[in-house]
Amino acid sequence: MKRILLVSALLLTAASPIAQPSAYDLVIRNARIVDGTGTPWYRGDIAMRGDMIVQVAAVIDPGSARVIDAAGRVVAPGFIDIHTHARRGIFQVPTAENYVRQGVTTLIEGPDGGSPVPLAPFLEKLDALQKSVNIGSFIGQGSVRAAVIGNADRKATAGEIAQMQALVEQGMRDGAFGLSTGLFYVPGSFTPTAEVIELAKTAARFGGMHKSHQREESVQLLDSVRETIAIGEGGGLPTQITHHKVIGKAYWGGSVETLRLVDEARARGVDVTSDQYPYTASSTSVASALLPAWALEGGREAQAARLKDAATRAKIRAEVIVAIRDARGGGDPKNVQFASCSFDASLAGKNLADLTTQRGMEPTIEHAADATLWLVEQGGCQGIFHAMSDDDVQRILVHPTTMVASDGAVVEFGRANPHPRSYGTFARVLGMYVRDKKTLRLEEAIRKMTSFPAARLRITDRGLLRPGTKADIVIFDPATVRDTATFEKPHSYAEGFSYVLVNGQVVFENGAMTAARPGRVLYGPGKVTDGTAAKPAARTTAKVATP
Ligand SMILES: [Zn+2]
Repeated sequence: MKRILLVSALLLTAASPIAQPSAYDLVIRNARIVDGTGTPWYRGDIAMRGDMIVQVAAVIDPGSARVIDAAGRVVAPGFIDIHTHARRGIFQVPTAENYVRQGVTTLIEGPDGGSPVPLAPFLEKLDALQKSVNIGSFIGQGSVRAAVIGNADRKATAGEIAQMQALVEQGMRDGAFGLSTGLFYVPGSFTPTAEVIELAKTAARFGGMHKSHQREESVQLLDSVRETIAIGEGGGLPTQITHHKVIGKAYWGGSVETLRLVDEARARGVDVTSDQYPYTASSTSVASALLPAWALEGGREAQAARLKDAATRAKIRAEVIVAIRDARGGGDPKNVQFASCSFDASLAGKNLADLTTQRGMEPTIEHAADATLWLVEQGGCQGIFHAMSDDDVQRILVHPTTMVASDGAVVEFGRANPHPRSYGTFARVLGMYVRDKKTLRLEEAIRKMTSFPAARLRITDRGLLRPGTKADIVIFDPATVRDTATFEKPHSYAEGFSYVLVNGQVVFENGAMTAARPGRVLYGPGKVTDGTAAKPAARTTAKVATP
């Protein structure tokens, strides 16, 4: 049977190339094809013309086309990262090199409730940018709320909800993939679930999804999962737990329950999924991680006033102690590492225990809380919080409804002290969890990076290696692929990738970025309506012009 297929493929390809010597622009030969579906890999060749894959077959005669010999390495669809903070850096580093070198070809922005409002000017600016990767965005509920009622801790009125819905509708028409929330962050934290559901309904009308940085990821984790599910159920749209995790030693093992909630919701027809970055430390600002939301309301001046009031300061301090002991602090001030501090660059890479000692105190949790309040008063820091268990990470990773996403940013090489996920997420899953720990199959891991996020975003022409899809393609060696970025030395590129193609053009080869900038802005399902509405008018004009 195999031989018959091979012979017929040879005959087919042998018949055409003489008449059409340049039927293809590029052919990848000798590939171990992992096509994005989860199907076991198979050997074959892949041909491209323009920005499209036009042929996948056992053997393809390249004619005069450029040939890349994959030499038995894995050839997979380019990875789609559904949760990035790419606007931090994409205009400075339009190659998005830290992403491309780990196989990512599409970056999705606007997570955690934060996006530009309105979205159109941002997408236009991205469209004008010469970039190596594709990029799209969500519309952020927190940003929409801030635009309408600021950072006030109160319910929205019916009129305000209507205004917010109008902004969400505009965002969807501009091309958002859906509504993101960050109910953990101010002002998302002031939003009742019912209000989010009203905005979710608007995103649903345009085929959008909801993606949630949950309200809480340690003590209130299960309630937060229930809330994310309720938003999908009440809003009538797909909903996603973003960077699904369990924070705080006291709650380790909690993923058994969170995943049970996901399974139960799906069983009754709620379309809920997750994404995850494969690390046991998280990253956010020290203030939002360790101080209660009420203490941060109203911006810096209001925060400073609260910290100046002795009684309020004591209340905040008590909550910071709990946060260090049971939640984001991981039970030890050493587990809070500084990524960058606006007021003192030399603190980058140090931890909260170091700072406490530096300020002349024993590094107990109580003293660390004092150091934290001082730090917030100075202007604050971005932090990295070592407070998750690898068992939870692996349990969430292997669950069939979890996809891989970095939650990272486009990084200027060598600048500041970012979370290593920006450099390593995808390579780490392939190296550490597929090859070394054998947590999941290679094909399943690739599915979680390609066709799964594509289907989630309703992107129908990417995420698979099939004729008719866009030629976003990565080639890597499964024996050597690995992440090299660490918390101590984060500026270190992933290894094992030999080629990355975006829209049919090679953007990375021979260990370096090329000059090609074929990246495009991708638009969500709400944008299509406008596009098709515009077409009839154009056709009429053409008819008039012809005679
Ligand atoms: Zn987040």
